[in-house]
Amino acid sequence: MLSHSTSRSHRPAAAVAVATLCVLAACSTPAPEEALPPGLRLVSTSALTDLDQREEVVTADGIATTARYPFLPGAHPLTLEIRTTMAELETAFLSNGSKDATLVQETHLLAASADVMGARLVAQEKNGDSGRSNATTRWYDGRTKLALPWTALLDGEPAISELGDRVARLLISEHDVASDALPAGLSAPSSPASATPSRAASPSPSPVDATVAWADADKHKGSPLEDLGFTAAGDLVVSLSPGEVAGSDDVQITVPQSAGLLSEFGLRAQKSATGKAVLPVPGKEKAPTHTMDCSRVACVALTFDDGPGPDTALLLDHLAAYSAPATFYVLGELVADNKDVLRRATREGHELGNHTWKHDDLTRLSGKAVAADIARTSKAVREATGADTPTLRPPYGAHDANAQKHVGLPMIMWDVDTLDWQHRDSAKTVKSAIADTTPGSVVLFHDIHRPTVDAIPQVLRGLRAKGYHFVTVSHLFGGQDLAPGTAYNRLDRPTPEG
Ligand SMILES: [Zn+2]
Repeated sequence: MLSHSTSRSHRPAAAVAVATLCVLAACSTPAPEEALPPGLRLVSTSALTDLDQREEVVTADGIATTARYPFLPGAHPLTLEIRTTMAELETAFLSNGSKDATLVQETHLLAASADVMGARLVAQEKNGDSGRSNATTRWYDGRTKLALPWTALLDGEPAISELGDRVARLLISEHDVASDALPAGLSAPSSPASATPSRAASPSPSPVDATVAWADADKHKGSPLEDLGFTAAGDLVVSLSPGEVAGSDDVQITVPQSAGLLSEFGLRAQKSATGKAVLPVPGKEKAPTHTMDCSRVACVALTFDDGPGPDTALLLDHLAAYSAPATFYVLGELVADNKDVLRRATREGHELGNHTWKHDDLTRLSGKAVAADIARTSKAVREATGADTPTLRPPYGAHDANAQKHVGLPMIMWDVDTLDWQHRDSAKTVKSAIADTTPGSVVLFHDIHRPTVDAIPQVLRGLRAKGYHFVTVSHLFGGQDLAPGTAYNRLDRPTPEG
């Protein structure tokens, strides 16, 4: 029996309501099959009281991007996968030069348990009168702690191809789609529809190999099958976005008797998707806080040294206009007179770093003096703002073996030097920051100079128009353990293949 819904598939209000009852009441006593709601099952997030839902909105220069995603301390690789996938689309959207355009991306959970998490990412793009939407799904295996693509649900290439055939047949037989008008990525099955599924349930489906699953997903990139979830009864559902089937709004294709197509991971996902929703509990180790994998998308860390100064508050206004987090390497001796602006910076998502007490050259100090200076500065910042200073920028970038041994913090240098302190020319600062930045760059500015602060709106506009994401230093290096005393000048980014 075919179940389908022509309502907007990412907001099936009725289905959510019933699913909520199922979660709150007793899903353990199986309901009669006809009582289960048809269509894609979404996890009712109202039942997950601990769920930390994040929203990042940037509206500037007539272009708005919104990303809504769950922050999952017990499944951090999935948070990273979701936000990074959204960031990749943002980069493509921002760098295509359109004006008066919006991109809204949101996440709906498809499954929530310690064993398997599932998420559906819906993207809606509007540009003037035209708009389009698209959705994809990501999964997480609590056993291997790996994020996985939709292909991981299926038992290898034969199952992927069988699912494609079944969806194509259902589109032709139930939705009057002509066999030459199937969505791109599906082709008309060569054999006619058979009464029984051509693939029997495999007695022991293979465990998923994450590398193979990602390679398969890459091979089938853009396939209509990538928006793949389960009904409350455990059948696979493929959701097609408006326009994927010519002249049609969202369509959900429920594939009956699809358990035989599932991998071992797919069977666990099915169990999680149809069971009671609970969030995985984080481990005891310190949970990472970065949300974007900067080795995959264009990130840049803007850093400001030698402050705070009289124009730092104006700089914060400029950064707020782009919701752009930055990193401030502050001098300890300036903290006491600038508590308010430092507290504001912390509150607005910026990071504070240590730039020593009074800008001494660390290579001219004894080991003991280096350690005391850094500690005194960190303590002043912590007492004024409650914030840690996770990294150090040595004054003048100067360091030697003795200093490295005693600083006790990772040392963050830069790869883009705007020389703003030297020329004090806004136009030169803008030009250098935009022309010299590459993905993973750390850019050096000084917020004690007014021409630098005045340059920042254009720097932000220019880098955003190239698709850059502004991140703090800690976020830029989020995937790495930075070693105390080691110097880093940018995020080393693997060269793209090909
Ligand atoms: Zn300095």
